[in-house]
Amino acid sequence: MKRRLQVMKFGGTSVGDASCMARTAQIIAQAARQNACVAVVSAMSGVTNRLIEAAKRAGAGDGSHGAVVLDTLRKQHSDALQALVNDESTRKSILKQLDEAFAEGRRLLEGTALLRELTPRTLDAISSLGERLSAPLVSGALRELGLQSEAVEATEVIVTDAFHGGAAPLMDATRAACHVRLWPLLDKGIVPVVTGFMGATPEGILTTLGRGGSDYSATILGAAMDAGEVIIWTDVDGVLTADPRLVSEARTIPVISYREAAELAYFGAKVLHPKTLNPVMQAAIPVWIRNSFAPERSGTMITPKGQSIGGGVKALTAIQDVALISVGGPGIVGLPDVVGRTFSTTSEVRASVLLISQSSSQNDICFIVSAADAQRTVEALRKEFAQDLAHEKVEHITVDTNIAIVAVVGENMRGTPGVAGRTFNALGRENVNLIAIAQGSSESNISFVVEEKAMKTALIATHREFKLDAAEPRSAAGSPAATK
Ligand code: ADP
Ligand code: ASP
Ligand code: MG
Repeated sequence: MKRRLQVMKFGGTSVGDASCMARTAQIIAQAARQNACVAVVSAMSGVTNRLIEAAKRAGAGDGSHGAVVLDTLRKQHSDALQALVNDESTRKSILKQLDEAFAEGRRLLEGTALLRELTPRTLDAISSLGERLSAPLVSGALRELGLQSEAVEATEVIVTDAFHGGAAPLMDATRAACHVRLWPLLDKGIVPVVTGFMGATPEGILTTLGRGGSDYSATILGAAMDAGEVIIWTDVDGVLTADPRLVSEARTIPVISYREAAELAYFGAKVLHPKTLNPVMQAAIPVWIRNSFAPERSGTMITPKGQSIGGGVKALTAIQDVALISVGGPGIVGLPDVVGRTFSTTSEVRASVLLISQSSSQNDICFIVSAADAQRTVEALRKEFAQDLAHEKVEHITVDTNIAIVAVVGENMRGTPGVAGRTFNALGRENVNLIAIAQGSSESNISFVVEEKAMKTALIATHREFKLDAAEPRSAAGSPAATK
């Protein structure tokens, strides 16, 4: 008989040091005693940033920084191993695994420095090393607790396209790979600890899913294995009404719909990678967000249908690392295909467009992309419109990075008049200047662009206006199997 399957993902802070890893292992062990359980882990917190920095410096010809970073990481991981695993032979075999990853990292960084060229493919191979180091440690901690466990590299189970730095999963192939690699382990009672963040093309070339992508790894596996639920363990109590680092009054939302959570993630709520919910929506697999530092709390449940609340507004989010690009000038009035050419260019460079606004005079098309996509988007647009710029049909392509998007999210805003008016009044009272506004036709979000320095004020004012700090009752929606 197949037991219910839980996929559990642990983020960087949940595996941040040996004591966090030990707590994580306890959570997995408790769940694995009742259900079949697949764990997905991120790199220890801060490790991916350090690896990316090392890769970039190597790409600029710095031949020594990478070695220093790898030495520090080796010490950090072997210290954690020492603290977590007492059994000598387990420790030895894990250290061997770690050293293989370090040797590969060393070769990649040296080669990059020698060539002074960092390709997206090499960056993926270097930036994903952190997950390949943390998974064997968590697996070792589980064995220390008496469970059978094996660290599995996601290159063996998540099959993706070849878009390095933001690969998309190929679900049929992933499903087949899970049958070959993960189900046999579960059938033998072995808990797989899978590296988050990465996958591989059908040819076996390592790819990554994008920064923060381990959430996505968990739901990809959850969907591919028909899991009963996916639990994302992190360092906050769940999805909150706003980022608690910006709004101290933010509180945990007990139940939220896929659509609402997806809107929040899309507009920057870091607690979820923007694509996290895509794989599980069709099969309606519930996703829980829970606090690995307070596992007794039940967290947030993300379900197909959320729970309605009075005011309609459920949560706020803001995104800072964005750029406003405008393509315009009076000359574009006579160019009917400017919109089409602009957005086929953004799609060619795979820039994700977060918000679009066009003035009625058609003098300007403004849109917002994430800051990481801005440079290549502008370069591609300048190329696309080179002739028009030369003939001044298009006068300018400009970028402004000193802006932020604030989004007001809630499915029940549909049919609740006055949400936009109340938001703008609240912002007006605080003298926050609105640069652009957009409302999705689904009416489950209203987003507005403000100057970056006004973002926090805008969030606090809107949070107060909609009384989002008031307690919301937990419904009878249930609790995750792990706590039953
Ligand atoms: P992990 O390492 O577990 O993946 P992240 O740092 O990626 O964790 O995401 C969790 C963080 O997301 C929280 O510490 C919190 O600061 C931030 N965050 C932003 N918006 C929200 C929100 N609406 N609800 C909860 N957390 C949020
Ligand atoms: N370690 C990766 C990152 O920092 C993936 C993740 O944490 O989800 O982006
Ligand atoms: Mg994250």
